[in-house]
Amino acid sequence: MTVTTESFTPPPTSCPSWCTLPAGHPWEHYYGLGATRYHSRKVWTGAAQRVEVLTQEVAYSATDVRTLGPHLSLGDDHGYVPLTALEARELAAALVEAAAELEGIEGTL
Ligand SMILES: [Zn+2]
Repeated sequence: MTVTTESFTPPPTSCPSWCTLPAGHPWEHYYGLGATRYHSRKVWTGAAQRVEVLTQEVAYSATDVRTLGPHLSLGDDHGYVPLTALEARELAAALVEAAAELEGIEGTL
């Protein structure tokens, strides 16, 4: 198999039913990765982070389009960490526990 990193743009495909981005949102090109398209549903957006359901499609050629996900994503505009449902639940529990500890420390807001 040949992996193409040239500026190849595949024809538009339909979004998954849960994707909230505008219909027909375009493919993007990333150096060394090829045409990439993310499907997203934002679940929570904070000041610096967000949680979203995310699927990544990467087109290596017209007939070789690979999908990663869907998974939960914790991140920002500079990167993200993919999480399984179990990892997301564990992170949520850890954040609730850490928030309680923080509230118990004098001098914190
Ligand atoms: Zn989409």
